[in-house]
Amino acid sequence: MKPPRSYLASILGNRCPSCREGRMFKVPNPYWPRTINQMHPSCPVCGENFKREPGFYFGAAYVNYAMTVALWVAVLVALYVFGALGWIEFTGMFEQPDTVIVSGIVTLLVLLPLIQRLSRSLWIHLFVRFKGTKAKQ
Ligand SMILES: [Zn+2]
Repeated sequence: MKPPRSYLASILGNRCPSCREGRMFKVPNPYWPRTINQMHPSCPVCGENFKREPGFYFGAAYVNYAMTVALWVAVLVALYVFGALGWIEFTGMFEQPDTVIVSGIVTLLVLLPLIQRLSRSLWIHLFVRFKGTKAKQ
């Protein structure tokens, strides 16, 4: 059976890893503050259990951390490429450390809900295989 969307599209779209159709989160908008982490207990389409075991999403914190580090590196590279960041050769320091910190924090705050959901989605996709849409449990 052909999946309705690719593995990557399923992760990025926060879809059920089992059927790749059902939404993992109750509210699709990640910027709604009270519902950032509210997930369906099981997939509304196929019934896959999203609450696999107590503390299952603790591992998503490691994914979240890696994404946050990657984001900071991306901010540094963007600042350097667009010329907003100078490099002091003899000290190995940035000329404007406050620019780096403010840019990184603002970018992180803006993207935090997306990273939060994406890390959970990626984490469950690592452990649940595609089973098709008719795997109602
Ligand atoms: Zn499903």
